Amino acid sequence: MSSYHLDIQEILKKIRKMDAHTIGLQFPEGLKMYATSVARQIEEKTGADVIISGDPCYGACDVSDTVMDNLVDLLVHFGHTPLPLEYDVPVLFLEAEFQLDIMPAVNEALDYLKDYKKIGLVTTTQHLHLIDELTDILRKNGKEVVMSEGKGTQKAQVLGCNFSSIENLPVDAFLFLGSGNFHPLGIKLSTDKPVIVADQYHNEARDIDKFADRMMRIRFAKITKAREAGKFGVIVSSKKGQNRMELAQSLKDIIQREGKQAFIILMNQITPELLVPYRDIDAYVITACPRIAIDDANIYDKSILTPDELLIALDKRKWDEYVMDEIRY
Ligand code: SF4
Repeated sequence: MSSYHLDIQEILKKIRKMDAHTIGLQFPEGLKMYATSVARQIEEKTGADVIISGDPCYGACDVSDTVMDNLVDLLVHFGHTPLPLEYDVPVLFLEAEFQLDIMPAVNEALDYLKDYKKIGLVTTTQHLHLIDELTDILRKNGKEVVMSEGKGTQKAQVLGCNFSSIENLPVDAFLFLGSGNFHPLGIKLSTDKPVIVADQYHNEARDIDKFADRMMRIRFAKITKAREAGKFGVIVSSKKGQNRMELAQSLKDIIQREGKQAFIILMNQITPELLVPYRDIDAYVITACPRIAIDDANIYDKSILTPDELLIALDKRKWDEYVMDEIRY
């Protein structure tokens, strides 16, 4: 199916085995274009009814099992691997394997890696099936390949909120296969090692160093601005896999002990528009997905900080102890 391989046969097998009559389908944003085609195939081949989740979905932290409870016999969640959470309905996680030639990007990446021998391989769920091929290429080019499983992640896999698979890996540099800068930034900040991105979507490779420097300057400015805040909103996600209410309560206590005001705000979606009514709040701390504060910083007019950044703003932690926010299950 286009650039992604979705294993429809596995869904059909599961439906027949469970004798399921109503099926929920949940796709992340990049795969929603396939929703009606998958639904039609299921309905035609099994006679089951399908309900497509139309809500935004960005990760396995955001499975629509609670919303679909009592509505479906089986929920199929595409594009992510499961997290160690309890679900309200049976969930079939179906990975979507991206089909693209990785050679142009990897060849360019090899140039960046020429001075390094031990390479840590890292990627995201939709490219895990390419790891063996990538390992062979690196070995043929004289590299030693190092990979590890993480807490709740597979070998060589990172999530935007979980970099445990690269913790303490004895490598000279990391090679990240995939697009975007958020994951490579997390690898850089977690390890302080060189990180090269092999971006097979754009057929290019890049060193993440300059981006990391620029991002750190932006974070420093946000933290500095938040030091002047008298009133904080501490945002908690109502999504099961992002909910850190205990952390939010403890941050509220810390803020109040500094003589400032803090209010916990529980939200499902977090957008600048939904925060507009809270005009009197000066800065926000996001205990939901760590990507919101970093990736979306520019669309919010007030400082939005990660929990660790709040501690720096309140002088509870030093700037040189900066770490990426992670959600470990
Ligand atoms: S919390 Fe954010 S980074 Fe973590 S899995 Fe969910 S969407 Fe991805």
